[in-house]
Amino acid sequence: MSRNNRTFVNFYCRYTKSQNQIKAALFSERIHQAPILLISISKPLGLLLSRSQILDNICSRMPITKLFVRFLCGNAQLILKSPEHAPVTPSLQDFLNTDTLFDLIVIGSGPGGSIAALRGAEAGKKVLVVEAGEAYPPSSIEHHSLTQTIRQFRNGGLNFIWGTKPVLFAEGMTLGGGSEVNSGLYHRLEGHRRTEILSAVGASEEEWSELEKLVEREVSVQLSQEGTTPDHGLVLGALREGLVCKEIPRWRKYEPSEEHQGMQVTYLQRAKNSGAKVLVNAQVNRLTPKKECIEVEIYDTAGARRIFKSKEVVLAAGTLETPRILHRSKLSSSSFPLNFHPMLRAVAAQNKVINDGDLFPSWQAWDTDHRYKYGYSVSTYPYLIATLRSIGEDRDFSDNELSCMAAYFSSFALSDSKAKLRRFGNTLIPTIIFGKKDNESMRESSKNLMDLLRSGGATELWPKKGISPVTTVHVFGSMPIGSSTLINDKGRLITESRIRISDGSLMPQAPWGNPQGAIMVLCELMAKRAHHE
Ligand SMILES: Cc1cc2nc3c(=O)[nH]c(=O)nc-3n(C[C@H](O)[C@H](O)[C@H](O)COP(=O)(O)OP(=O)(O)OC[C@H]3O[C@@H](n4cnc5c(N)ncnc54)[C@H](O)[C@@H]3O)c2cc1C
Repeated sequence: MSRNNRTFVNFYCRYTKSQNQIKAALFSERIHQAPILLISISKPLGLLLSRSQILDNICSRMPITKLFVRFLCGNAQLILKSPEHAPVTPSLQDFLNTDTLFDLIVIGSGPGGSIAALRGAEAGKKVLVVEAGEAYPPSSIEHHSLTQTIRQFRNGGLNFIWGTKPVLFAEGMTLGGGSEVNSGLYHRLEGHRRTEILSAVGASEEEWSELEKLVEREVSVQLSQEGTTPDHGLVLGALREGLVCKEIPRWRKYEPSEEHQGMQVTYLQRAKNSGAKVLVNAQVNRLTPKKECIEVEIYDTAGARRIFKSKEVVLAAGTLETPRILHRSKLSSSSFPLNFHPMLRAVAAQNKVINDGDLFPSWQAWDTDHRYKYGYSVSTYPYLIATLRSIGEDRDFSDNELSCMAAYFSSFALSDSKAKLRRFGNTLIPTIIFGKKDNESMRESSKNLMDLLRSGGATELWPKKGISPVTTVHVFGSMPIGSSTLINDKGRLITESRIRISDGSLMPQAPWGNPQGAIMVLCELMAKRAHHE
């Protein structure tokens, strides 16, 4: 066993209080997929952990660090419990002739990439979509399961924004991107955020609404069929406190059977029907603009390198990977802005059964000035246990007990923090220095959530003291349209107009609600503008 592995095994055993070497080795193997910084801090961390007394002394003065370590353990538990599965779909790589000159190569198959692919293929272009993740047929992996975490999330969900408070975030890495793993909660832009975002992207209300309706039709946005108000926790509390409280529509079909409407069964399927080819397990490393084409350098999972050629490229690898590809290709500056919705967690128990394995349909609550939002978090039992671990609860709970519990979040939009993708060696690392106002928002939104849950009948609440570590699943805004000097109003690179961006990177400011809907409308707008050039 290498020294690094031993460090992780010790780390695991000490913090999960387990002596199970097999689980520990599995943890060690998985954790190696985590970002480079986690690995580079492993030695000092390992040394620290081997001197438990020192660690306890230090951590008692650094509750955030202690929580962070616990948080890692909570998530590590998720990962190590995940059963192994064989890959489902073979790569298409061998079926493609690399001499082909494509009209359009789309990098990434999330919402932004799938829209670009469909609109390109409909316009008669020869399109290739290149996706780094694996292809799993829709519904072949259980939603919100441990298998999904390990198979369809980048680094098993262990990604960090480093800074004054580390933020753990998850990204989808699979055919269809984040749309396949998320809950499908759909928000239209509202209030002043709608006005500001439309103004930044230079769209009229009429144009935006038309594209919004198009997106809603394409992915079947609708409320659930049940139509009742759940009588528990968050909803009861929010109604009592006079907050806006609604069921959130989702991209979903209910007939003939219930089906999540991710990109695979909507935009991507239609792009394929219009002739687009899709290549999975293929990671784009860099782009090289040549006079007659753009060369796209791709590595498959075995490390084999291929070059594909295209007249035009759409970069849709997501808010963090799109800038990284530009950076590796030497087509950008060395730092990018970053934006996200910080999320704080809480778990509440009630004296009745409220959770038969997960909580849907999903309700959210907010104040009328759109400052804070509160909602259900994934509450499948393994996720619930991991969330409890991450907020300081070591006790084990039976399924009976878990059926009376659920996880919740509060979230808000950043205001005075400084978040950036900073250059670190050959890569860009997400970083944040939280501002005074945002630190206050964390405390306030977290306290409000606990008050709501108490008012909604919670019999026990976690975290017992302080606030939870910060997490997010909504990252955006690394190349904000309207203010980034790298791109024009069609999302094209100013220095290389054959490369266009189509993903969450473009979001000019926090949409406040769940962002995928707004990202999709924005990408439809970019595709329309590109088409009319
Ligand atoms: C767990 C979770 C829950 C969420 N819940 C919701 C929700 O309920 N409602 C909502 O509105 N939003 C939700 N979101 C956010 C939403 O999924 C994202 O905003 C959306 O997917 C962003 O789309 P995108 O096109 O920018 O990028 P992504 O969906 O991230 O797609 C990028 C794709 O590019 C691929 N890629 C990356 N690098 C490369 C490379 N080098 N080469 C080739 N391919 C590459 C990735 O594998 C990925 O498939 C959630 C996200 C997560 C992770």
